[in-house]
Amino acid sequence: MKTPFAPTRECAAQLDAADQLAAFKKEFLFPQHNGADAIYFCGNSLGLQARKVSAAIQQELNDWQQLAVEGYFHAKNPWLFYHEQFSETLAGMMGCHKDEVTVMNTLTVNLHLMLQSFYRPSGKRNKIMMEAGAFPSDQYALETVARLHHLDPDTTIIEIHPRSGEKLLRTEDILATIETHGDELALLLMGGINYYTGQLYDIATITAAAQRQGAFAGWDLAHVAGNIPMQLHNWNVDFAVWCSYKYLNGGPGAVGGLFVHEKHGNDPGFPRAAGWWGNDERTRFKMEKGFVPKKGASGWQISTAQVFNMVSLKASLEHFKVAGIEKLRAKSLELTAYLEYLLGQSSMPFEIITPKEQEWRGAQLSLYFPENGKAIHTQMMQQGIICDYREPGVIRLAPAPLYCSFNDVYRFYEVLKNMPHAL
Ligand SMILES: *Cc1c(COP(=O)(O)O)cnc(C)c1O
Repeated sequence: MKTPFAPTRECAAQLDAADQLAAFKKEFLFPQHNGADAIYFCGNSLGLQARKVSAAIQQELNDWQQLAVEGYFHAKNPWLFYHEQFSETLAGMMGCHKDEVTVMNTLTVNLHLMLQSFYRPSGKRNKIMMEAGAFPSDQYALETVARLHHLDPDTTIIEIHPRSGEKLLRTEDILATIETHGDELALLLMGGINYYTGQLYDIATITAAAQRQGAFAGWDLAHVAGNIPMQLHNWNVDFAVWCSYKYLNGGPGAVGGLFVHEKHGNDPGFPRAAGWWGNDERTRFKMEKGFVPKKGASGWQISTAQVFNMVSLKASLEHFKVAGIEKLRAKSLELTAYLEYLLGQSSMPFEIITPKEQEWRGAQLSLYFPENGKAIHTQMMQQGIICDYREPGVIRLAPAPLYCSFNDVYRFYEVLKNMPHAL
């Protein structure tokens, strides 16, 4: 039976005792605060280092030292195929075939590569639709891709805004905007979860609506990967990109992820920017003219696998594989629900701007403080609770289920409760 929520340390301890994934916390390294592990709610920004990472990096250093060029074939994890080790676990999380997923480059670079392939304005059909207030890198990418096509970003990019007085986007408004611009729409590109509000959009419904109008639908899943299980293949998403250093714990600047639906990935004629690593291995080393893309997302690979950029991700994904994304999501729902419950007991004036419905959010809750947001954030940091602050007025809390406990969440509430209202 589930433990009913109560705003007490005992309740948090009971919830932790019942948590089947609690042991994974030990597998990660925490920043230190006064000689103890800090509480870490920034896994939506930079995930923690798995304990296994040092040994995994040492393995590659040793193989490089001892095998040098032979390491491409004979390293413990042969470098020639290094990126392929991720396909199975990522395919499980993203809900797609192994061929439809790969890792390469970094998120915004991959987004540009996808824009080359999927944004092909033609006559009147030249608009790109995105959510207002998207992550700045995505905004810059779209602005510059419009210019590359000699189009004015201000008229080419259609932003969907929340209704006046609201902070979240309503699906019906997104669908209506898609319909309004139907025959002008070339591409819809949205963040799966908005980094600021924590809102998860209805990827399946929105994708289908854009495609009904003859547009491609692509998603930036930076805040989704490792947070919420996806069904990208069945939802018929055209492409998706994500980074690996947030919930996936790949480390700063870790290799990015890419999904390309097989209906495009199996088409060797699909336009793309090519490099030798995307070429069929059987002919790659013949060093001849004539690009022959590999099947699937790997056909978008460009350069030699960046092994040192992938090692930490490999170590972390081994934990994801054992824990299972569905079980992690189940814990995450309860952990975030407990946080929401505790926040509801607090008399501090703030508003949770993240959707109340569990199915429309991930681990993160965004707390909007009309005043004192920054001061409260500073106090939390001084108490060893690492969370982040985004203008205007928002503290984001992301209890990542792999390494956060119910007691961690309780501590945030305890510190908040004991904080004076006037700061
Ligand atoms: C974190 C994040 C990025 C970061 O892009 P990089 O190219 O990895 O620096 C881009 N878009 C979104 C939506 C993000 O959340």
